[in-house]
This record gives sequence, C-alpha cells and structure tokens, in this order.
Amino acid sequence: MPSESGQTPPALERPRELPRSLLPDVVRRRAPVLLTLDYDGTLSPIVSDPARAVPAPGATQALARLARHPKALALAVISGRDIDQLRRLLGVDFGLTMLGVHGAEILEADGSRRLIEDLGGVPNALDKVREWLRANVPEQAGFVVEDKRLSVALHYRNAEAKAAERFKLAFESFVAAQGPQLRLGRGKMVVEAMPRGADKGRAIRFLRARFRFDAPAVYFGDDITDEDAFYALRDGGITVRVGDSAPSWAKFRVASPTEVVETLTAVADALERRRTVD
Ligand SMILES: [Mg+2]
Repeated sequence: MPSESGQTPPALERPRELPRSLLPDVVRRRAPVLLTLDYDGTLSPIVSDPARAVPAPGATQALARLARHPKALALAVISGRDIDQLRRLLGVDFGLTMLGVHGAEILEADGSRRLIEDLGGVPNALDKVREWLRANVPEQAGFVVEDKRLSVALHYRNAEAKAAERFKLAFESFVAAQGPQLRLGRGKMVVEAMPRGADKGRAIRFLRARFRFDAPAVYFGDDITDEDAFYALRDGGITVRVGDSAPSWAKFRVASPTEVVETLTAVADALERRRTVD
C-alpha cells in the first residue's frame, strides 16, 4: 500500500501501454462504467504557475461529449484542488461530479455541494499551519502558498533547491506535530497539510459504493496521491498512470495529458456509435 512517505514498495511493477481499444470496448460492452480522472498532470499539463493550469487542448470538449451519456458513464474528477478552482479551470458546468481537496468535498453533477468528511478539529489545526507559513516562509523566494480552505499547500517548484528542501522539511515536521487531525500530502513540488480522511483511495471507494459496485471502474492519474486510487482499484479496476513508466499500482500507462484526451475522445466516439446502434 502506498505510504505517506511516498516511497514505492519494490515489488510494484511498471504499468504497460494502455491498449487503444480497451476503454472504447469496455464502454461498448460493459456500460455503465465509472470513469474518474485527476486534473493536474492528467487533464492539464503541469505548468510552473498552478493557477494557470488550463486543460489540454480538446479535454473539455471530450468531457462534454462524455457527459451526454449519463446512463452509460458516471464521470468524475478527483483533485487536490478545491472545487471553486477546479470548476474555474475546467470551465465546465455539466453532468460531471467533482471531488475537491482529495475527496474532502463533493460537487454533484446536479450542482449541489457538500463535505464528505467530518472535519472535526481540522479548521483549527489548519489555522496554525497558516500562521506558521506566514511567519516562516520568505516572500519573493519562489514559494507559493495555496490556501484551499480545507487544506493548505506549499509549492516550491520555483524556489532555490536548498531553501526548498529546508522549508519542506520544516513544514513537514510542523504539520506532523499538529496531531491526528491532519495528514501530510506530497505531490510534484508541493507539500500539503490536509484533513486526515481526505485521500483519493477513499474518494474512489465512495464513488464506487454509491454508483454500482459491480460496474467497471476506471481511474487516470499522474502523481503520488493517485497511487491511493490505483491501489483501491487494484483488483479489477482499469487504472492508468499518466507520464513515465515508473513502477506503480496502476496497470496501464499513457504518456501525457494529450494521450488522455485522445483516449477520452475515442471513448466518446464509441458511445456515440453505440447510441446510433441502440
Ligand atoms: Mg495530478
């Protein structure tokens, strides 16, 4: 199981190329299907300013086409971002379920919004983290503090390497010292204090349980936090890592968000053909 340290157990295997016909065949033959995707690095290329991470060309069009088939496909995006940001960046407001802050909150396809985790003392603990960041992280040094209300992240992609390492470690120890309400998340050039119960593995189990547990479940993601979802779907799920072929709990891989869009487009084509056949 993926650990919070982000270390990958050596027994993991390298995912293999996703066969092009696999997902179109699954939606044609085994619908309904739960199709879930991460956002950054999956639907959107990674960029140096997270606020400008727009969807890859064709991504929103492909999602819009997929959302026209709610009986065949339950479509969801699970992101570390908060829902307001995710909504703004995706630029879509149609039959798509969004889970923000690693599954702590949900925006339903009908527009209703709620927390799916009991937050207990999380808000107080996060206030302490905010205070620590204000007092310790230097301005103009390439750090970006992202406050997502239910979590607080420190991005260090543009900071000098030694300073980044020093503040990352200090942040990690501070968060660990705040007690059991919070956990530490690590991603690409980012560390984050988040509610203990927010993780993408729980989020995907939540979606499966309320959709149809026997329906095929598909998950695309590119980062350490996505390993929790890959792991949750290790028996029978169709899990796709976006990026290099490093060992992973995912069974398959595609190279880039562009290939994710190509795959989604092929699935939309298959659903539209299926509809004309029905
Ligand atoms: Mg990602």
